[in-house]
Amino acid sequence: MMKVVTRFAPSPTGYIHIGNVRSAIYPYLIAKQNSGKFILRIEDTDRERYVEGATDLIEDTLKWLGLEWDEGPIVGGENGPYFQSERLSIYHEWVKKLIESGRAYADPTPPEKLDEYRKQCVTEKRAFLYRDFRPEKLDFEFREGVPIRFLSDPKPREWNDAVMGKMSAGPEVQDDIVLIKKDGYPTYNFAHIVDDALMGVTHVMRGVEYLSSTPNYLALYEAFGLDVPVLVSLPHILAPTGNKKLGKRDGAKSVTEYREDGVLAEAMLNYLACLGWNDGTEQEIYTKDELISRFSLDKIQSSGARYDEVKLLWMNGQWIRRIFNTQGDKALYDRTIGFWPEVAESYPEEYCLKVLSIIYDRLKTLSDLREMTEYFFKDPEIDVDMIKNNKFLKKLSEAEIEDLYKKAIEKLSSIDNWDADSLQVALNELLEETGKKPAELFSMIRIAISFAPFSPALNLTLETLGKDIALARLNAVARAI
Ligand code: GLU
Repeated sequence: MMKVVTRFAPSPTGYIHIGNVRSAIYPYLIAKQNSGKFILRIEDTDRERYVEGATDLIEDTLKWLGLEWDEGPIVGGENGPYFQSERLSIYHEWVKKLIESGRAYADPTPPEKLDEYRKQCVTEKRAFLYRDFRPEKLDFEFREGVPIRFLSDPKPREWNDAVMGKMSAGPEVQDDIVLIKKDGYPTYNFAHIVDDALMGVTHVMRGVEYLSSTPNYLALYEAFGLDVPVLVSLPHILAPTGNKKLGKRDGAKSVTEYREDGVLAEAMLNYLACLGWNDGTEQEIYTKDELISRFSLDKIQSSGARYDEVKLLWMNGQWIRRIFNTQGDKALYDRTIGFWPEVAESYPEEYCLKVLSIIYDRLKTLSDLREMTEYFFKDPEIDVDMIKNNKFLKKLSEAEIEDLYKKAIEKLSSIDNWDADSLQVALNELLEETGKKPAELFSMIRIAISFAPFSPALNLTLETLGKDIALARLNAVARAI
């Protein structure tokens, strides 16, 4: 049986958006599912769009997501080099083969002339095709500094796309495309055909934007006598509203930003894999291994998949709980390093673990820790208005509030064993003795010890803070009222 070989072929042109990464996940899954090979190839032939450092970012992101490549930069392999800019001689050799067989030619037409042709087509209301302007006598010679074009063979073409189904196109979309540019670099259109062939790629998986160029690619495969690999067009990722492609302005951050915000790699992988694919069940949370075993090309949807950040963050919350519950508090804690408020640095790990264990199930991202836990590490600023304006406390008079704080302090001071159970007993007694509702009494205490919009269960928060600190904070508030 043929070994499955897939590739991710990003261009190092800047930040990594959500769509780029999904184009890496699917080929990875298909390769792993079939015990095949997943190649990383850097398509850096567009020197104008090249961004320094972008390759590092790509590699780092793939590693973070656990999408290890079997061949490519760093790891090497038998089909290198894996940077297209280092393969120029290969493209030249291949284009020379086409020239020799009369299927490619040097085209010295200056850009101004091309512009003229284009304008002429606009005036004549027809699509621009270079072949309509091709000189009668062609120059079948490889020349440095002169673009090389393909001599097309326009005819009806049919092919199968694993996602889009049966496709066909007429001659009107096939042209004498540029293969080698003036600067000696190949175009994407040419280079990927050569590389996929040399690297033994069996499944070409990429964004649907390449579908319209496929007839030209088919002509190239034909001219080289190559088998056409399985072609897989991945649907667009749509903006949260409307019918347009997700763009930078639609609120989606780059993968790096999500990572810095404390989105876990597992959640990112899970979310993106399911953006445009589902296995037909209700399951939403998948580990990487589950994705590898369940993924299938025929369940990739052909229509655009809508990007939904709320869902991504929900999934992240699910993954945070899952890691805590299945791998333990320490495993989750290890992932939170760098996300705590600065003041937490001087506290022992044991204390942070305790805080994490009572707060983790409210986290959507790890960076929530900063705001949600600060009061565990430093006395909050007293804000009397927060108490007075609280929706449960508004109805109480100042004297009543003062009295309740006194009673709470008295009650909590009398506890010898400062643990969650004893605290709960004491809090229940306090409810009975004062005749107040839990919402009133507990809000009062909660605000005084945290001045945060929310906190975990009161007895757990009190237990974690410790008796001295909890009482000191309550006393300070009682005095300030
Ligand atoms: N370099 C192309 C891009 O970044 C890759 C397309 C492909 O996978 O063939 O869009």
